[in-house]
Amino acid sequence: MLLLTPGPVQTDPRVRAAAAVDIAPWDEDFRPEYARLRDRVRAVAGGLPGEHVTLPLQGAGHFIVEAAIRSLIPAGGRFVVPMNGTYAARVERLAREAGRIAIPIPVPDTRPATAAEVAEALAAHPDATHLVAVHSETGSGIVNDPAVLGPAVRAAGRRMILDSVSGFGALPFRMADHPECDAAVFTSNKCIEGLPGLGFAVCRDAPVRAGAGQAGSWSLDLGDVLLHAERSGWGSFRFTPPVQALRAFGVALDLYEAEGGQPARLRRYQENARVLLDGAAALGMRPYLEARHQGPIIATFHQPKRPGFELQHLVDALKRRGVLISNFWTTARPTFRIGCIGAVTPAEMRGAVAALGEALRELGLPLPAAA
Ligand SMILES: *Cc1c(COP(=O)(O)O)cnc(C)c1O
Repeated sequence: MLLLTPGPVQTDPRVRAAAAVDIAPWDEDFRPEYARLRDRVRAVAGGLPGEHVTLPLQGAGHFIVEAAIRSLIPAGGRFVVPMNGTYAARVERLAREAGRIAIPIPVPDTRPATAAEVAEALAAHPDATHLVAVHSETGSGIVNDPAVLGPAVRAAGRRMILDSVSGFGALPFRMADHPECDAAVFTSNKCIEGLPGLGFAVCRDAPVRAGAGQAGSWSLDLGDVLLHAERSGWGSFRFTPPVQALRAFGVALDLYEAEGGQPARLRRYQENARVLLDGAAALGMRPYLEARHQGPIIATFHQPKRPGFELQHLVDALKRRGVLISNFWTTARPTFRIGCIGAVTPAEMRGAVAALGEALRELGLPLPAAA
């Protein structure tokens, strides 16, 4: 099966094989391996030794997003968030339930937020300490570019938290270029192409240290993760980690580096996206986004306008042909989405486009030429 879901993503067989072992996280052979992973992740994030730290946390992407909000913004604290997609809405909910206050910046889900919108919101809300931005909005496929938004945050003297869960490792971003960024968060499974199970926050040391204890949740306290590492060693965990996923993540990083790191991964995903967008257009599918706002992580298409069309039927027809896509959508209008990330080549994407054509024909959806 070819997974074209934007998480969990297709993985390399070598990554999956690395997980087929029993290991103990506290074992003397494993601890240095894990400690090295922290440095490798910081390097991928463009972080600086002594200034930035890698803080891993067990669990899904939502957990690390919530942990960053709790650990860097005190209870009752306020931040602004461009609301151009479903993951921004999730940030708002995670924050609300944690007793932090998200001030929404209204932005349609069909385009990135602009520096002017962020500057205006920060000026209107002097009590907002942070911008929390979703880097690649996985709901639609747009990219909120930290190179555009970061300077507005810096100019206003505020801080930034970046939900880079679906973009980290592929989209260009370096912590060292963003002194306003207190944390970039991501998971083991998206553009690094490891197994699911771990979140990572690459944080500036000082603010996360200062915030230790304020999370209101021991489990989600990144300051405590940092202090524990200093007490017990950088190869130690507070609670049992998904240790096989951690080892597999190391292999995924090996493959990432061998491929050529961020620029190479971005090129492959861009090529996947191009093959998909061109192929789907030839099949009469209309993209949800204008080409200039289309990011390389995920492509979203309007659902075919036909009475009785059900997304699940298309998902099932594709699955019979060996391709799995998401069976839900999160845009303002009915769409379906196809991920361009994971251990997937442009040749495999061409195969997926052929499968899409067959699946549409099976559903009796005429090609434009035949319409
Ligand atoms: C995938 C994703 C998450 C987290 O998803 P989980 O299902 O909790 O792993 C958060 N933010 C963005 C932008 C994502 O793409």
